[in-house]
Amino acid sequence: MISNMTHTIRQFFPQLPVYPALGNHDYWPQDQLPVNENDIYEAVAKLWSPWLQPEALVTLRKGGFYSQLIKPGLRLVSLNTNLYYSPNKVTANMSDPAGQYQWLQDTLELSRQNMERVYVIAHVPIGYLPYAKSTTAMREGDNERLVDIFRNYSDIIQGQFYGHTHRDSLMVLLDRKGKPVNSIFVTPAVTPYRNFLEQYSNNPGIRMYLYNSQDYGLQDLWQFYLNLTEANQEEKPNWRLEYVMTKAFGIKDIQPESLHELALKFEAPESKEFQKYFTYFMVSYNDTITCTEECKTVQVCSVHFLDHKSYSECVQKLKGGDL
Ligand SMILES: [Zn+2]
Repeated sequence: MISNMTHTIRQFFPQLPVYPALGNHDYWPQDQLPVNENDIYEAVAKLWSPWLQPEALVTLRKGGFYSQLIKPGLRLVSLNTNLYYSPNKVTANMSDPAGQYQWLQDTLELSRQNMERVYVIAHVPIGYLPYAKSTTAMREGDNERLVDIFRNYSDIIQGQFYGHTHRDSLMVLLDRKGKPVNSIFVTPAVTPYRNFLEQYSNNPGIRMYLYNSQDYGLQDLWQFYLNLTEANQEEKPNWRLEYVMTKAFGIKDIQPESLHELALKFEAPESKEFQKYFTYFMVSYNDTITCTEECKTVQVCSVHFLDHKSYSECVQKLKGGDL
């Protein structure tokens, strides 16, 4: 699978720089990504060697993570958050699987000294799941630890990008005083997926971001999608623009302050912004499904509150409210 995808991308976009991140299904047995050299890390290091520098391949082989300078002043950090994923039994009792925490801190510290900006990518997201109450995708202790590190380095991190849920969702990291400091995006998948807890699936999606070439701050995003029902009826795929973030929500950019203001609007009863957000959450799978009461509380709290304490307070506060 990884080999097919790698070769397909290289065939159609031979000049395109590509920065991959490992997912929980990229290993067998599923989810059990290990903390040292193995055949799979070795195989992906070989497959991705046209895209990554030798230094990146060294840590990729050892622990499934790497960092690479994209251009002067901009660094990409690709984490293996599968090491912290709840069903991963191999790493369950380790304090720092594959030494990734130490490596991440050292990498960010060096980036700060070198006046670099950083984009973080990984498969399993930090924070709370937007569709399951009080549930983090990672083990809770690991979530707390990562959130802490990201707060400490929020001045140099210009964006965080995750996957895994197959859905389209946002998070805004607040610092310890409640100030918005990081924009975090969970990008919907090309593959549809229906969780047993949910009454809906997602359409396939891909997206494009616009960033400022001076400080690499994020300005906007274009979300494209494929209406699967229509594609099946017509027997041909017709990818279309689903939305442009700033236009869809009337915000000036996708910086932490702007996303924070938007997310506050979600809290209003019958918020039009929230209904739109929820339709996009499913990648426009079905705009007649609404999300109210507990569904909405869980969604709204997950946007702003990524650590246990603040998330619990949010759920408590909104419980029985009129969302
Ligand atoms: Zn996944």
